[in-house]
Amino acid sequence: MTSLSPLLKQATPVVVDTALGSWINADDGKRYLDFTSGIGVTSTGHCHPDVVAAAREQTGKIIHAQYTTVMHKPLLELTEKLTGVLPAGLDSVYYANSGSESIEASIRLARMATGRPNIIAFHGGFHGRTVAAASLTTAGTKFRSGFSPIMGGVQIAPFPYAFRYGWDEDTAVDFALRELDYLLKSISSPEDTAGFIIEPVLGDGGYLPTPPRFLEGVRERADRIGAVLIIDEVQAGVGRTGKFWGHEYSAAKPDILITAKGLASGFPISAMAAGEDLMAKGWPGSQGGTYGGNAVAAAAAVATLGVVEREGLVENARVRGDQLRAGLEKLQASRPFMGDVRGLGLMQAVEFVDEDGEPDAPAAAAVQQAAVDQGLLLLTCGALGNVVRIIPALVATEAEIDSGLSRFEGAL
Ligand code: PLP
Repeated sequence: MTSLSPLLKQATPVVVDTALGSWINADDGKRYLDFTSGIGVTSTGHCHPDVVAAAREQTGKIIHAQYTTVMHKPLLELTEKLTGVLPAGLDSVYYANSGSESIEASIRLARMATGRPNIIAFHGGFHGRTVAAASLTTAGTKFRSGFSPIMGGVQIAPFPYAFRYGWDEDTAVDFALRELDYLLKSISSPEDTAGFIIEPVLGDGGYLPTPPRFLEGVRERADRIGAVLIIDEVQAGVGRTGKFWGHEYSAAKPDILITAKGLASGFPISAMAAGEDLMAKGWPGSQGGTYGGNAVAAAAAVATLGVVEREGLVENARVRGDQLRAGLEKLQASRPFMGDVRGLGLMQAVEFVDEDGEPDAPAAAAVQQAAVDQGLLLLTCGALGNVVRIIPALVATEAEIDSGLSRFEGAL
């Protein structure tokens, strides 16, 4: 008998049979409200009929035709649709399969474009598991330790994690910006700094929204030293936060934007968008991969963007996010161990703490396990593992959010 690698450790005992919308039907007959969305991927819910139909139809036409050899229509259509929703000026799009690959591409592009080596990332950031992406990732030691040395030329600057510092947001932002300036003087000179990379909401780092003033401060420093600002929208993009892109809560605009996850409702595709001038600083062959921009995944992405628009899912994420947040805050009022409730849109989280206010990872894990008994699937995260993240599909209804909240209360 064969067995799965111990590297594939599963957080719940659930084996999926079928899934539709916000629900997973397990092979033992149990039904689960899925507030994990495949780690923020199934944006239009599981098996949305439009996405299924688009993928089915495309599979009968052409599955794979690598874009370095011949182009296929879904990728052209996707590019047209994407440039319609991308920030102005980001009119050139490159495709890969996963978030990490597009992050790697952005690091290469930032270095090629500036001729400088260093990338500055932020404490608690998660940008993927490939070696370069892992070197930018500090959302917990497990993503880096044991296989060093990882990529050089990376500096990690403080993130304004107000709750953990015990500060208000303004104080945390002032501190983090000052530390960034100090780093630019003492460790990574402007002449050596190719770019900054940051998420609009730290994902695996604990669903910490990046304060708008901080993102704007990073943008300002990138402009000042001629470095590139990469905004990693892999988890926060495509409506998840209640705006199409998470960075739209601030006035800062990226030079390079990375999107993946929710883009195709579960089909593997990612994109790196930049201005044409910047993109032209790389060269054909400097980026790429056999499967990048797959035709079926691209067709599913086109369908996903259509559903997001037609069904008003960005607005739904905002409204249902407010409902979820209000429900969580109500539960928090009588439970001091729910130290912090935070997030944007349908990207909400609870940070668990012990009697001394210290991170309580076992509590987060226990809530996740207890939720399974309540028929609710949740994820944990946070650099210290003490955060439960709640990621409903963007199609979640009022009744589903209410049901999720009462199951969550049962788990607490
Ligand atoms: N960046 C962010 C913000 C992510 O949340 C993730 C994955 O969780 C990645 C990058 C890496 O994406 P992937 O797992 O598709 O390689």
